[in-house]
Amino acid sequence: MEKIKMPKPIVEIDGDEMTRIIWSMIKDKLLLPYIDLNTEYYDLGLVNRNVTDDSVTVQCAYAIKKHKVGVKCATITPNAQRMGEYNLKSMWKSPNATIRGILDGTVFREPILVKNIAPTVSTWKKSIIIARHAYGDVYSAKEYRVTSAGKLKAEFVFKDGKTEDIQGFDFDSEGIVQIMHNKDKSIESFARSCFNFALDRNMDLWFSAKDTISKQYDHHFKDIFADIYEKEYADRFKKAGIEYFYTLIDDAVARVVRSEGGFIWALKNYDGDVMSDMVSSAFGSLAMMTSVLVSPQGEYEYEAAHGTVTRHYYRHLKGEKTSTNPIATIFAWTGALRKRGELDNSDRLVTFADNLEASCIESIEQGYITKDLQNLVTGEKNTVMNTEDFINKIAERLEEKVK
Ligand code: NAP
Ligand code: MG
Repeated sequence: MEKIKMPKPIVEIDGDEMTRIIWSMIKDKLLLPYIDLNTEYYDLGLVNRNVTDDSVTVQCAYAIKKHKVGVKCATITPNAQRMGEYNLKSMWKSPNATIRGILDGTVFREPILVKNIAPTVSTWKKSIIIARHAYGDVYSAKEYRVTSAGKLKAEFVFKDGKTEDIQGFDFDSEGIVQIMHNKDKSIESFARSCFNFALDRNMDLWFSAKDTISKQYDHHFKDIFADIYEKEYADRFKKAGIEYFYTLIDDAVARVVRSEGGFIWALKNYDGDVMSDMVSSAFGSLAMMTSVLVSPQGEYEYEAAHGTVTRHYYRHLKGEKTSTNPIATIFAWTGALRKRGELDNSDRLVTFADNLEASCIESIEQGYITKDLQNLVTGEKNTVMNTEDFINKIAERLEEKVK
C-alpha cells in the first residue's frame, strides 16, 4: 500500500514517563508504516520545558492555533517532589492549563466503549460525552471564615469609581462565606465550543444547571446558552437533525441514568468535575477515556484523559515489561488524524483512523487486554499482555484491514 500523504501538519506534543515510551511505540508500529506522518513536533517533556523556561508550551499552543489540530502526550505537572527529581529551575505551571488559557477552550471527555466491558449503568448503550466548563466558580472563589455573629457586607467598585453595595447574610453565630465569579466572555466561549462540538459529532447537546435556585448566577449561564443558540446555531442544529436542550441539573441526573447515552452533557465547572468522574468510572477505566480540548474558533487538541502513569514508568526503568494500556493515547492520535483528514478532505486519512480504532476495539473484544482491564472484561478466555505485545496485536489486525 502506498503511504498516506498529509499535505498539512498535525502539531505533535510529546510528553513524559510511561506515556512518552508508549508514544514512540504507537508511532513506530501503528502510524509510520502507513502514513507519511507530517507533524510539527514540540517536546513538552519536563526536561525540555525546564531547558526552554517553559516557552515551548506557549509555542505549541500557538502552533495549534495556526494548524488547527494537535495531539498531546500526557505530561508531568511539577510539584515539590518533581523539583528535586528533575532539578527544575521553577515549579512550571500545568502545561494543560497554559494551553487551555491560550486556546480558551472547553474539555470534552469521552469513554471508548467495547462490548466486553459493560457499563455499571445497564441502560447505557452509547457513550456520554462530558463537556466541562474549566473556568471560575468555586475553583477561584474567595473564602472566609466567620468567627462570630455579624453581617456580611460587600461592595463592588466599578472602574470609574462608582460603587454598588451587595447585601450579605446576617450571621447569628459563626459560619463560613464563599464568593465566586464567572465572566460572560468565558461562558460564551464555553457555549460556542459545546455547540460546535455537537455539530461536529452530530450529537444532541444537553446543558444543565441549577437556575431555579440560583436565579442570577446559574440563570445567566442558561440565558447565554439560549441566546447564542438562537442567534448562531438553531438553523444548523435543525439541518443536522440534532437538538439542544436545557434542563435543571436534578432532572438531567435522573434522565442520564435512565438514558441509552449518545449525547453531550455540558456542565458548569464543579458539576463537570464531579460528573466526569462518575461517568468515567461507570463506563470502565480511565485508561479508556479520551479527551479533546475544543476552542471557540474550532481548534482541536486531542489527548488521553489519564496521566503519565508514573508507577509503571519506574518499573519500566528497572527493566520490567509493563502492561500499560495504550488505548486512550492511540485514540488521541486517531482523533487528530481524523480531524486533519476531515479538514483537508482526505478520505484516506479518515478511513485509516477508523481502521486503527476498530483494530483496538476488536483486539479487546477478542480478549487481548492489558492488566487494568482484567477485572472489568467479561468472557472466559482473556489474555493479559504487556504493552508492546498488545500494540503488536493491534498492528497485526490493522495490517489485515489496510492491506
Ligand atoms: P495517572 O498517570 O493517570 O495514573 C494513576 C494510576 O492509574 C496509575 O498508577 C495506574 O494504576 C492507573 N492508570 C492510569 N493510566 C493507565 C493506563 N494507561 N494503563 C494502565 N493503568 C493506568 O495519574 P497520576 O499517577 O496521578 O499522575 C502521574 C503524572 O501524570 C503526574 O505527574 C501528573 O501531573 C500527570 N498527569 C498528567 C495529565 C495530563 O497530561 N493530561 C493528567 C493527569 C495527570 P496502577 O499503578 O494501579 O496500575
Ligand atoms: Mg474530578
